[in-house]
Amino acid sequence: MCGIVGYVGEKSALDILLEGLTNLEYRGYDSAGIAVNVKGKVELYKAEGKLQNLKNITNENREHISQSVIGIGHIRWATHGAPTTANAHPHSCNCGRVAIVHNGIIENYKELRVKLEKQGCVFRSQTDTETVAHLVASKYAETNDLTEAVRLATKEIEGAYALAVIHQDVKNTIVATRRNAPLLVGIGENEYYVASDVPAIIKYTKKAMYLDDNQIVTLTPSSMKLIDTDNNELSQKYEELPWEPVALSKMGYKHFMLKEIHEQPDVVRNVLAGKLRAIDENIILKEVKLDKDTLKNLNRIQIVACGTSLHAAMVGKYLIEDLCDIAVDVEPSSEYIYRKTVGDKNTLVIGVSQSGETADTITAIRQAKARGSHILIVTNRPDSTMAREADSLIPVSAGIEVSVAATKSYIAQVISFYLLAIHIAEIKESANKSELETIKRELILLPQKLEKVLSHKEEIQLCAKKFANSKDFIFIARGINFPTALEGALKLKEISYINATGYTAGELKHGPIAMLDESMPVLSILMKGKVYDKILSNSEEAKARNARMIALTDSDDSKLNELFEVVIRLPEINETLSPVLAIVPLQLLAYYIAEFLGKDVDQPRNLAKSVTVE
Ligand code: GLU
Repeated sequence: MCGIVGYVGEKSALDILLEGLTNLEYRGYDSAGIAVNVKGKVELYKAEGKLQNLKNITNENREHISQSVIGIGHIRWATHGAPTTANAHPHSCNCGRVAIVHNGIIENYKELRVKLEKQGCVFRSQTDTETVAHLVASKYAETNDLTEAVRLATKEIEGAYALAVIHQDVKNTIVATRRNAPLLVGIGENEYYVASDVPAIIKYTKKAMYLDDNQIVTLTPSSMKLIDTDNNELSQKYEELPWEPVALSKMGYKHFMLKEIHEQPDVVRNVLAGKLRAIDENIILKEVKLDKDTLKNLNRIQIVACGTSLHAAMVGKYLIEDLCDIAVDVEPSSEYIYRKTVGDKNTLVIGVSQSGETADTITAIRQAKARGSHILIVTNRPDSTMAREADSLIPVSAGIEVSVAATKSYIAQVISFYLLAIHIAEIKESANKSELETIKRELILLPQKLEKVLSHKEEIQLCAKKFANSKDFIFIARGINFPTALEGALKLKEISYINATGYTAGELKHGPIAMLDESMPVLSILMKGKVYDKILSNSEEAKARNARMIALTDSDDSKLNELFEVVIRLPEINETLSPVLAIVPLQLLAYYIAEFLGKDVDQPRNLAKSVTVE
């Protein structure tokens, strides 16, 4: 679920492992550890809590540990067993010769554990992972071959995993494998790296090989061998990694989240580049393979996503239904996969995921693909599992997002939906040309308007201070900004731990209004357009129950100052495009509240950036 890094070569492994883990920290974790081989002996170093605790331990033995030219490291996001030092990875076997790191979940660990205990294995942790360490050790005892031991072990384990293994008796060798969890090999000069994500190794190499499911790689300083689980040797395909190391720097900002919020005007420019060239030209989405006939025959669109991506998907629903005349359902992937969903080859299924590795969404799109639906993926990672399995792709080009709370990837996904909706409408000729041109014109103007919002952040900072001690928060909106209310509430929950909920403003009176009193802030997203007056009335209703009212609006109506305690003003914008602008002050509000409360903004508790378990 969280992060793996490994190194084998001629350099000292310690700093490479620690740096790799540091660059994976953003994924969210609760403990960390490394295994090295010093003078022919495998040694484990582990610590619960922050990576700094592990660094403190390794610093005490720095000279000694630095002698190792091989190592594997892990940051753990606990799924089985509390986040303690004993449960931290790497895990080992009775004799201590094997060390193993694992991302994912071994689903049949209970049965395996019973079987292994009967054979005399003594377990030292509550994790599912430890079973694999004992299993590999026992297979090695039978075969005397580490690759074979791992291969045989993978035949017995069920679930999702990325694994990296070393063995004391097999000098300078890492064996790694994956199934339903990401893993790549970095290729250097007389050295190899293994990692669950690019940031862990980008400083050292830009040449890499992505492992596919059920492939096993054996790495020594001078060789790499790739096989499948039936022992067939496979050819190796190398890729150039797209990331720059500089993307991992805070560039002077206090937190990655703040930096990423400020990157949003450029992110919009990047997403539009090459796709929206002029107002009177059609949108170009080369990797979207939907022709007129396919679109004409579509009976529906289903969008599956989780968390923030789900909110981007909801904006997508409003846009596609409005412009393309196709019914769209949006559903959390985790719900979609455990019920009978109706769809066929005339259903377009869109998966949205920042990482492209979200386990629930991968399962959802695989199910949809199996029944013949066309799969379109909107992801920030064109190198991800989902992108590889897609029939059509929209790479959202937000650049690497380090903060666990997603901001710029959300905006990039939302912009991708504008492009997709216009693209479909242009092929289907389902919308009025001048309406599409208006949206395109607004899209081109968006980056400047976003810059304007970002240059007025002091008023949001003041608002944050004023409301930071609230126990609850309500966000209301209607229409296309309902997802904005949900996303604003989610940001606040994620990083400040304040109980926040987004409601359609019309629903307030059907229940939630009971919660209102003088301690409850209600933030109304009040953008000019079809539903402006309705939300204003709903805000009056909330005010009448003594709620503390905040408005986020592009209206310059001075009367709003009477109804609302705080009015956050935005540049005027076409209602259809307003979600892009309206979310930014809400991201900033969440950020400043969390910062004011002294929370760990970039790595909020309990959260992982890329959720690769179901
Ligand atoms: N399921 C394993 C554990 O709880 C691995 C978790 C992870 O991927 O970090 O230890």
